[in-house]
Amino acid sequence: MKTKITVAKGDGIGPEIMDATLRIILEAGAQIDIEEIEVGEKVYLSGNTSGISKESWDVIRRNKVFLKAPITTPQGGGYKSLNVTTRKFLGLYSNVRPCRSLFPFVETKHPVMDIVIVRENEEDLYAGIEHQQTDEVVQCLKLISRPGCEKIIRYAFEFAKQQGRKKVTCFTKDNIMKQTDGLFHKVFDEIAALYPEIENEHWIVDIGAAKMADSPELFDVIVMPNLYGDILSDVAAQITGSVGLAGSANIGEECAMFEAIHGSAPRRAGQNLANPSGLLQGAIMMLNHIGQANIAAKVQNAWLKTIEDGIHTYDIYKEGLSKMKVGTVEFTNAVIANLGSKPKVFKQILESNNPIIQLPKYTRKTPAYKKLLGVDLFVHWTGTSPDELAEKMKQLGNDNIKLSMITNRGIKVWPEGFEETFCTDHWRCRFKVVGDYQITFNDILQLQHVNQMRVNMEIIKTENLYAFNGIPAFSLGQGE
Ligand code: NAD
Repeated sequence: MKTKITVAKGDGIGPEIMDATLRIILEAGAQIDIEEIEVGEKVYLSGNTSGISKESWDVIRRNKVFLKAPITTPQGGGYKSLNVTTRKFLGLYSNVRPCRSLFPFVETKHPVMDIVIVRENEEDLYAGIEHQQTDEVVQCLKLISRPGCEKIIRYAFEFAKQQGRKKVTCFTKDNIMKQTDGLFHKVFDEIAALYPEIENEHWIVDIGAAKMADSPELFDVIVMPNLYGDILSDVAAQITGSVGLAGSANIGEECAMFEAIHGSAPRRAGQNLANPSGLLQGAIMMLNHIGQANIAAKVQNAWLKTIEDGIHTYDIYKEGLSKMKVGTVEFTNAVIANLGSKPKVFKQILESNNPIIQLPKYTRKTPAYKKLLGVDLFVHWTGTSPDELAEKMKQLGNDNIKLSMITNRGIKVWPEGFEETFCTDHWRCRFKVVGDYQITFNDILQLQHVNQMRVNMEIIKTENLYAFNGIPAFSLGQGE
C-alpha cells in the first residue's frame, strides 16, 4: 500500500533538488502518493506572515509525513520562520542530523568522521519571545523545560541504542547559564544513568565545538539544546565536505518532517548547480520512517556508488579526486543508473528494520514546595549613578522586603560596584525578604503601589524569585 506524503518544493534551489530527490526515490520503487503544497516565499509575499496557509496545515496534519525543500524567509517585515513554526506546531521535538565523511572520494580534513547531532527542536532561544524594553536594551527569553530536556535526551540514548552507537555526548554552557543549560545537563546525567551500556560525557559547548571541528572522530552521538545544535550541525556537515551533503529528520509523537540541513541557496538557484544529496538523505530517513527500508537501502547504496564513481556536483568537485563535474540533473541521472548497484569501498547499506522510536509519555512530577523569596524589578532609567537609583528604589521597600542589590546587564553595581562598569538605561533592582517573613504576591503589588504613589520609576518587567524545595532557583548578580 502506498503511503501518502506531503511535499513542498520550496524556494531557491528547492524545486530542483526536490525534483531530483523524487525522481530517484520513485525510480527506486518508493510506494508513495504525493500531495503537494505551496509554502515559503510566494506565500509570505502574498501577505501571509507565517508563509503557509490553513489549507496546507490541514494537508500536513492529515498525512503526518512531510518532505520539505528549503525555503527563503524574506528579510524584515515580521515574517516568522516557517521551519521553526512547523517544528513547534507539530511537536517535532527531535532533529536528527547525521554527518559522515565520504573519504577518499570527497575532500575533507577529517577522513574518519561519523557523527549524529540530535538537536532539541522546540525551545531554547527559538521560543522567539523577544522584547525591546528600554531605548538601549532588547531581550530574548531562553526557555528550557524539563519535559523538553527529558524527551530529547531520552531520544538521543534510544537512537544510540537502536543504531548500535557507543557514546552520547552532551554540549551545554552550564558554567554560565546555571538554570537553563544547568537543567539540560542535570537531566542528561539522570537519563544517562538509565543506559549503562552506552558511554556518556559532557563538554562545555565552546571547547566541545572546537574539539568537534578539530577531532570529530572522538564523537559519536551529540545531543544539545536548539541553538548550539543549529550552529554545530552546519559546522559538522561542512567539515565532511559540504553543507549540501547532510539531511535531517524532525521527529514528533504524531508527525515527522524530513529535509536537507542547508537553506535555499538563492544565488545557485535555477542553474542546474545544486547538490541534491542533503534532501535525498532526508528522503532516505523518511523511507525508513514509513517502513520502506528496502527502498531506503537501495537509494543509499546507489548514492554511495555515485559518489565513489567520482560524479560530483560543484560543491564537492575536486581536481584529482573527482572524475566528472556535473549538474543537479546529471547527478540525479547517475544515481538512478546506479540503482541496484552496491558501493565497493564504502560499507554497503543493509536494509534495517528499525521500528520508529516511541518514548513513554511525559508524566508530570510531583510539584515542588515553592516559596517566594523576593522579586527583581527591572527599570528603564537614564541616570548614571547607581547610588542615586538605590536611594529612589529603597523607598519602595519596608521592614519585610528590602532592596538588596542593583545590577546592570547582570553585573552588580550597587552596593559597592566599580566606577569602571559600563551602565545602560536598563537596571535590575532586587528586593529580598527580611528574616523569616513569608512574602506573598500582595507584597510585590505593594512595592509597585508605593512606586506609583511616591517614586514613579518606569518598571518595565518584574520577575519573582523562588526557592523550589528549599533551593533558591535564580541566578545571583555577577559579583554578588
Ligand atoms: P544556505 O544553506 O542556503 O547556503 C549557504 C552556502 O552553502 C551557500 O554558499 C550555498 O551556495 C551553499 N549550498 C547550500 N546548499 C547547497 C547545495 N545543496 N548544493 C550546493 N551548495 C549549497 O544558507 P543561507 O545563504 O544562509 O540562506 C539562504 C536562505 O535559506 C535564507 O532565506 C534562509 O532563511 C533560508 N534557510 C532555509 C532553511 C530551511 O528551509 N530549512 C534552512 C536554512 C536557511
